[in-house]
Amino acid sequence: MTELTIIYGKEPKKMVRTLLELLQPEKALPLDSRIALKPNLVLAKPATSGATTSPEIAAALIEHFQERGYKNLVIMESSWVGDNTKRAFQICGYEELSKRYDIPLIDLKDDRTIKVTYEDMNLLLCKQATEVDYLINLPVLKAHCQTRLTCSLKNLKGCIPDKEKRRYHSLGLHRPIAYLNQVLRTDLIIVDGIMGDLTFEEGGNPVEMGRIIAGFDPVLVDSYVASLIGYEVSDIEYLQISHQLGRGNLYGTETSLVELDQEKKPGRTLRPSYRVAQLAQYIEENQSCSPCYGSLIHALDRLEEKGELDHLDLPLCIGRGYHGQKEKGKAIGIGNCTVQMDQHLPGCPPSARDIVQFLRQLKK
Ligand code: SF4
Repeated sequence: MTELTIIYGKEPKKMVRTLLELLQPEKALPLDSRIALKPNLVLAKPATSGATTSPEIAAALIEHFQERGYKNLVIMESSWVGDNTKRAFQICGYEELSKRYDIPLIDLKDDRTIKVTYEDMNLLLCKQATEVDYLINLPVLKAHCQTRLTCSLKNLKGCIPDKEKRRYHSLGLHRPIAYLNQVLRTDLIIVDGIMGDLTFEEGGNPVEMGRIIAGFDPVLVDSYVASLIGYEVSDIEYLQISHQLGRGNLYGTETSLVELDQEKKPGRTLRPSYRVAQLAQYIEENQSCSPCYGSLIHALDRLEEKGELDHLDLPLCIGRGYHGQKEKGKAIGIGNCTVQMDQHLPGCPPSARDIVQFLRQLKK
């Protein structure tokens, strides 16, 4: 079996149809299999923002399987903490897809949860995510403000309840992501590399990348994507842990790589933006959830652009690690976790707009 297949171009539906004809993922898959598509709909923004999976990719998969007689397909997702999955289904074009192909949309935020244990860690999963025969993971090629990269391994975080998403940050994020991928197995991965974001997970700085990457091994796919944007495996801890746990192979010289339509390969080199690292100098983070940290980074980005950050002479504290800590007068707290600090902004997570207003009024 070919290990990694990449196709270049700008027409996601046509490109995925070509990939599927070649890979034939349905081989040996019984016709009554329950097949779940798990896009990345982290928040309610269209794929053109660089944040979410193009519905055209899902459409190509649905057509491929339906034409071959598969009737039990579903689309499932749970957007990040603070965002509404149903709104994301609508804004991102999945509601329309659901009607067009008569496919149910499952908002995993409404689902029951089950507990599983991996090594020394208890993990909560959304029940319906565990009840599929074939899980198709559809991540977007994106940077992440805390883990540097988000692709197929991290995309499974959309299959756990919100309270568990928060708890992952208390557990250091990387190990639980790797463990999650041990208990919830992805069967096929199609990476949306048409429009990604090399600055923020939540989009807003879309980058045309002109490619779709397909594979069956999430460690191989993610390590290839990491190398594509200039990261070493050692830069992405959960990827390293997943490899050590035997979840898959790392991309290297022995990887069999098939590239289709190479004449359409974009000339530009993909490199992550170091904007987040630059703004992180103002922050003292301790186990913060991604939406919270992302809001703060966005707020600082806006304020710095307008030259309004000079008055900040105290560190901005954020994260679950500040629960119960006083830090009186010595810091500024962002989010409900910092409620005991003298100066703090409530919200779980607070919006970037609220953070901007809060930090502006500190000047006065
Ligand atoms: S305040 Fe922020 S860090 Fe704390 S639980 Fe809420 S989202 Fe997470």
